[in-house]
Amino acid sequence: MTALTIALSKGRILEESLPLLAKLGLDPAGDIDRLLRVPSRDKAVSLLIVRPADVPTYVEHGAADLGIVGKDVLMEHGGAALYEPLDLGIARCRLSVAAKKDGPRPDGVQRLRIATKYPAITRRHFAAKGEQVEIIKLYGSMELAPLVGLADLIVDLVATGGTLKANGLVEIETICQVTSRMVVNKAAMKMKHAAIQSLLARVAALVK
Ligand code: ATP
Ligand code: MG
Repeated sequence: MTALTIALSKGRILEESLPLLAKLGLDPAGDIDRLLRVPSRDKAVSLLIVRPADVPTYVEHGAADLGIVGKDVLMEHGGAALYEPLDLGIARCRLSVAAKKDGPRPDGVQRLRIATKYPAITRRHFAAKGEQVEIIKLYGSMELAPLVGLADLIVDLVATGGTLKANGLVEIETICQVTSRMVVNKAAMKMKHAAIQSLLARVAALVK
């Protein structure tokens, strides 16, 4: 029996991963609110509970063989060192540009200031349009930035648009759709080929 470790993104992705894990017989056999490493119901598979932005790092370095992570995090991290074989279709949202509803529309004359948790994606997106922007890196609550004059625009995840609306912001452009993906360490894909392929096939059958 080949041992496998899966790094799970703590938070809303974990919530939406649990039903999937249960159907695979891989539900956590331990307190996931307290423990950072828990066995699963399948003795061969253990689970790591990590911050979403850290999942690519755990998998790239082989501390986990597989991971479940948002496409937003993968795009920001640069996913080249990982395989991304499956779209799980969970934790669906989009990455968007938003502005103050009543504020003057930034007109492209000045250098736009954009607050975001995603500096790499934001830089690429505006560079592709030939726009020079100043990026202001934040770690959360991006919606606040335009309200207090810290930034002209934000780049953030939107699901229902409720949070934007509550803060008097409107979505002005969608950068991309986001769902969670299964990622695989490249060396593990070779060394644990049979175990990983059979797990991927079972997951694929569930999400197709
Ligand atoms: P941390 O606790 O490290 O700050 P976080 O706040 O990014 O992490 P969550 O908000 O629980 O953690 O999870 C974020 C992930 O969930 C995103 O990377 C994205 O893929 C997914 N997601 C799905 N819908 C949304 C949404 N409406 N807002 C934010 N993230 C969403
Ligand atoms: Mg958070």
